[in-house]
Parts: sequence; structure tokens; C-alpha cells
Amino acid sequence: MILEVKYWPDPCLKKEALEVDPTDPGIPTIIANLFETMYARRGMGLAATQCDIQQRILVIDGTLAGGKIKQAFINPVIKEKTEKKIITEEGCLSFPGVYARVERYEGVIVESDTLTSGREDVILSGVDAVCFQHELDHLNGVVFFDHLGPAKRRLLEEKIRKNVKKINRRTK
Ligand code: ZN
Repeated sequence: MILEVKYWPDPCLKKEALEVDPTDPGIPTIIANLFETMYARRGMGLAATQCDIQQRILVIDGTLAGGKIKQAFINPVIKEKTEKKIITEEGCLSFPGVYARVERYEGVIVESDTLTSGREDVILSGVDAVCFQHELDHLNGVVFFDHLGPAKRRLLEEKIRKNVKKINRRTK
């Protein structure tokens, strides 16, 4: 099922999502819906909170941009990160038509729950790591704007307000 992706400044984007029980029978459906919604909207990552599901679940598909990892993460935490950081241009399904250069760790080791076999570690680097960190921020109520300086942020806020207005007009 394709879910509705909420646009900034929807209040659901500011909420901190709650930990979930990985054996909850509803979780595979949420994951399937997140992937379906992400692909339908041509994104490479989506966090449950962007669809107003306040649970710590996110999906990424870095293979769409030269990465290696296509995976859902349940209750993910960053265990280790590289000293090295990289700056890349990021977009977000909650910010249609707006892009910004954001600094992230070049690599991270992520621990998260699996549906069946407990916690596991996944090593992410490059585009996979960037995409993951962007989505993990969403689970903490943080968006990519929050990494920008005030002037840049104000500029992009104006742009996003215009874009969302346009979309709302079109879909009415
Ligand atoms: Zn996003």
C-alpha cells in the first residue's frame, strides 16, 4: 500500500519515534508499505515518521545511487562512525524540489533488530551511510534543514513553502 508522505512543516516530522517490538506481527506490513511508497515517490530512503507512523523503522535503497545496501532497519542505532566526513547533496520526500549540501559521517556501523534473529550489525559507507543517517535523523524528529546555517535554512524554507503550496493547489 502506498502511504501518504507528509510534507514539512507537518508536526509529525518533529516527533521522536518510539522503539518497536521487532516480533510485532504488524511490522512486515509497515516495511513493505515503506518500500512501496519510497519507490512510488522515487526516493532512496524513507522513515516511518514521514508517513506519521511514530515507530523506529526506516528503509533505504542505496543501490539506486551506486550504493550496495537495500534494507529495512528496526530500532537502529549507530554503534561506530568514521572520523572522516563527507558532504553530499541531499533531497527528501518531505521537502519536494529542495536540495541541500549536508555533512555526514563517511561510514557507520549500525546495530538494529531483525524480524527473526535478534540484533545484527551492518556496515554502511558512502551513499548508503549518508542515506541511513538522513533517515535515522527523521526517527529523532530531525530533518536535513537542521544541519544548515540559519541563512541557508531561511532561503530553503521559503522555497519549500512555495513548492508545497504549488503541490497542494495541484492536488485540490
Ligand atoms: Zn528525508
